This record gives sequence, structure tokens and C-alpha cells, in this order.
Amino acid sequence: MRNICASGIVLRRIELGETDRIITVFTRECGKLSAAAKGSRRPGSKLGGASEPLTYSKLMLASGRDLYVLTQAEIKESFPHIRNEITSVAYGVYLLELVNAFVDLRQPNADVFDSLLSALYILEGGIDPEIAARYFEIQLLSILGYEPHIDQCLKCGRKPTREVISFSPAMGGIVCSACGRPPADSVQARAAVATYISALKIAQPPRLKDMQFPKGARGDMARILRRHIRYQLEHDLKSAEFIDTIAHFTKD
Ligand SMILES: [Zn+2]
Repeated sequence: MRNICASGIVLRRIELGETDRIITVFTRECGKLSAAAKGSRRPGSKLGGASEPLTYSKLMLASGRDLYVLTQAEIKESFPHIRNEITSVAYGVYLLELVNAFVDLRQPNADVFDSLLSALYILEGGIDPEIAARYFEIQLLSILGYEPHIDQCLKCGRKPTREVISFSPAMGGIVCSACGRPPADSVQARAAVATYISALKIAQPPRLKDMQFPKGARGDMARILRRHIRYQLEHDLKSAEFIDTIAHFTKD
């Protein structure tokens, strides 16, 4: 290991002893790293804010015996609006958890970093957090090569139009209604979901706030992407379950 200077977003933290933390930080230059933030919980510590999840900073990291040691940090953005509201903070934490689950230690991926940072700025800008999350899921899956195949039936190649389609996480795509019995693991959705997912895939961030997603399409996208991600990771994400809990309490 060597000393590094990197742009990083803190994904998670673990409290250690009375005053320290271990942070997991996703850096643009060196990928995901674990680092000790010594004394970061002491009042007035210069590392306090920078070692909080959902913070984007310029970091100086010294190589230690087992871990990096965070020596200096200059906060670039702490996303105050995301932190201000429970639904947006829940979605913000979900984006972090998604990246933490999908990327391996010390595997740099500047596209994933830029996409995460962009999604956090989108959330910070006050866009519907659910749409920001779907947007980021699609970008992340696409960058990492896990994109679900939703345009054409995997069996017959037909592009379904106005029907119910079956999405199979194990197959990573859809089967149309003409192709017989749906796969055992499949989740049903309206064929139009493909249009919405494709639109989100190519959307420029400033355009997101003008895009309209009917309630049914939101539900279909959420279900398909949730099941697809769960299959890829082989587990559900805690923050996704927390979002469900909040949705239950805040639904109108
Ligand atoms: Zn078919």
C-alpha cells in the first residue's frame, strides 16, 4: 500500500472505541478502501464531517499496517438537503449501499464513481428520490454489465407492446405472454415498463425532473429492478427494506 490523495465518497462507517471510526470510502482513483479515521468522533475533529457517510471529500490516506489511515480531508459536498429529509436520506443511503455491495475493494471504476456522485447531486437537487434511485440503478447495472434485458422476449425475440410481460431474475430478462407459461421465478409487469427503463437509461440528469412516470410504471420498475438486483447480489439490501418501511408510514 502507498500514500494516496483521492476524491472519495464515504459509503459507511463503523464506530471504533471511544473516538475513532473505520470508514469504507469509494474513491475515484483507487476504488473502494477501508480507512481508520482516528479521533474523528472527538468534538472539533477535522475528520469528523469527512468521515460521515454521504460526504464527498478530497482525502489524504496514509498506508497503515492493515488499513489506510485518513490523515487529512477537505469536504467538497456534504449534501445537506439529502440529510434534511428522511425519505431522501434513506434513498441516499440506499445508493451508497448499492455501490458498496456491487464494487470490490481496490477496483477503481471512475464511471461508477461519477455516476454515484451525479445521482447524489440529483437527489440533493430535490428530485423525486424514487426516480433518482431508479435512474442510478439502471446506470450502475449498465456500467457493470448487469443490465436487465427488457426490450425483447428472451425466447422469441419479439418486442412486447400492450401486454403483461414476465421478468425472470434468473434469466435476466423478459418472456412475453405468447411464449407459454412464465418462468417460475418471474415477476409480472406491464410491457410499457421497457419504455420507461430505456428512457431513464439515456436521460440526461437535468431532464429527469421533467419526466413523468405513472404510478403503475413506478411500481413495475421498482419490482423488476429490486428482484434483479437481489438476484445479482444474492441478498436484499437493508436500506431497500428501510425504504419500504418509510413508504408504509408516509403513503397518502
Ligand atoms: Zn416470446
